[in-house]
Amino acid sequence: MGEYGDRFAIVTSFQAEGMVLLDMAARANPGVRVLTLDTGRLPEETHELMDRVRERYRIGIEIFAPDHREVERMTSLHGTNLFRREPVFRKLCCQIRKVRPLDRGLQGVSAWATGLRREQSEERAGIAKVEQSSGRLKLSPLADWTAAQVEEYVAANDLPRHALAARGYRSIGCAPCTRAIQPGEPERAGRWWWEEGMSKECGLHAAPGGAMKRAVDALLGDILNG
Ligand code: SF4
Repeated sequence: MGEYGDRFAIVTSFQAEGMVLLDMAARANPGVRVLTLDTGRLPEETHELMDRVRERYRIGIEIFAPDHREVERMTSLHGTNLFRREPVFRKLCCQIRKVRPLDRGLQGVSAWATGLRREQSEERAGIAKVEQSSGRLKLSPLADWTAAQVEEYVAANDLPRHALAARGYRSIGCAPCTRAIQPGEPERAGRWWWEEGMSKECGLHAAPGGAMKRAVDALLGDILNG
């Protein structure tokens, strides 16, 4: 991705796949841009891992956080833990704390890479390794990797591991919306586990559509125009 220079970045949340991506990218270009989100609700273990990553790779990590005025208005209107109420409020929270900050982070970026894998969920089964998304090139070089291949790479290269992984967390996002999973459960079963029959996506990689999109947009409009 040398042709893109500073217009290329990897986006990671420092889970095992994100660490593989970061390690590969840093080997190819030690100055690669690394973007991440700090939603304001991350587990302490994620912050601790970010510090270990900085030390090991001697790289800068560009952290994008939600707009504090948007968070203040959202939580004032709907409560701090609004995501527990109904899926529409959960998706609103993900829009404010994740989707909008990433949109800001990707300004000026023409190509970005993620650690998504097709095996992670049915919704991710059709991920392309290279696609156009919102006018940018989006790369998912690990799309066809299995969980075993990720583990093999992590172990072979002694990559830093998220402390929650050892406690049964297979997919790690915000602290109140993530739990450990039981043997045999799908990888993303620990995300928003209280929702029944809903997409296990926050909107970063698959936006809500139809009536849900309209409902989220209406709530978002109240916040942005309030
Ligand atoms: S994962 Fe939970 S706390 Fe984090 S942005 Fe989404 S709803 Fe909000």
